[in-house]
Amino acid sequence: MLASYPRLVVDLSAIAENTGKVVVACTSAEIRIAGVTKGICAHGSIVRAMVDAGCPELADSRMTNIRSLRSMGFGLPLLLLRIPMLSEIPEVVEWADCSLVSMPETLQALDRECRCTGKEHQVIVMADMGDLREGFWPDDQQEALCTVLQGLERVRCRGVGVNFGCFGGVLPARKKLLELTCIAEEFERFLGYPLETVSGGSSSSLALLERNEIPEGVNHLRIGEAILLGTDVTSSRDIPWLRQRTMFLAGEVVELFRKPSVPQGVRGKDAFGRIPVFEDRGNRLRAIVAVGRQDVPIEGIEPERPGVTILGGSSDHLVLDVEEASPGVIMGEALRFFPDYGAMLALATSPYVGFEMV
Ligand SMILES: *Cc1c(COP(=O)(O)O)cnc(C)c1O
Repeated sequence: MLASYPRLVVDLSAIAENTGKVVVACTSAEIRIAGVTKGICAHGSIVRAMVDAGCPELADSRMTNIRSLRSMGFGLPLLLLRIPMLSEIPEVVEWADCSLVSMPETLQALDRECRCTGKEHQVIVMADMGDLREGFWPDDQQEALCTVLQGLERVRCRGVGVNFGCFGGVLPARKKLLELTCIAEEFERFLGYPLETVSGGSSSSLALLERNEIPEGVNHLRIGEAILLGTDVTSSRDIPWLRQRTMFLAGEVVELFRKPSVPQGVRGKDAFGRIPVFEDRGNRLRAIVAVGRQDVPIEGIEPERPGVTILGGSSDHLVLDVEEASPGVIMGEALRFFPDYGAMLALATSPYVGFEMV
């Protein structure tokens, strides 16, 4: 049994509201979404809220999560987001309906597995439009991939897709999505059948949707962050038509003392090999919260209470300046912190952090 703190408290009605709004906005542009669950480790009640709010497909980057999504029995198609490891092909074919793929070897391995097991699988072939994470480089590798696709027996090309922002920080742009629709047409000509899906990216592509700049032909987006947090970290913005602060970390105060603001003594490096810098602000009231870097990157959380600032943290201790906290901090109380995407991801996967739905 987990202690009650730290825990991640999730507002399911906010998740449902965000899902509904994203589905409506996308549907009006003839775009279907896959709701991305990896940010909350495919947690059952949060996924349920997304499904109930109209999410028509679920996607995750980890096979462990895809398996648990399958066991939840929603009956929705499941999309594997991370290009598969050759060593996980049997699980991919068994549990996922579709996967994002970039390598010819992976396509062949998927087809071989399908032939052995009598199953079928779909793929969305990823094109790299400049962000330099996954995807084939259109000028070089497209024809070879199409040739492989043509020879497959039980793997069908559902479509093509692109990812932005995740490695190179390249933002989605209408021009790049137009290129993707051209690639889709070339695939169709080569393969001789229409593609069902042209997947134009993730939450960051919603900025294009808002400006009506998603080209006709792009009919699919993979949306996680916008639903879960109402934000778009690539453009560092709150999405104005969605709800933010959909969840918070609750951590308990375990020490509350007034102390000097500069360490006393001969100083070396901190627990993480860094040399911290301190400003002398005299004696200040400080609180320690029982949460640490083992649970969350502390740069990724924001205190809810006005006047509370994060001074730093070690593996298990979060050190706060609470001199100006309003209301004042009390020993033993739980303080709230809003996570960004990276913090949410870490909190959701820390075995030391519980979940609570409200
Ligand atoms: C995580 C992921 C997404 C979802 O991204 P968000 O920014 O959370 O919307 C989409 N596509 C791929 C390939 C991913 O790995």
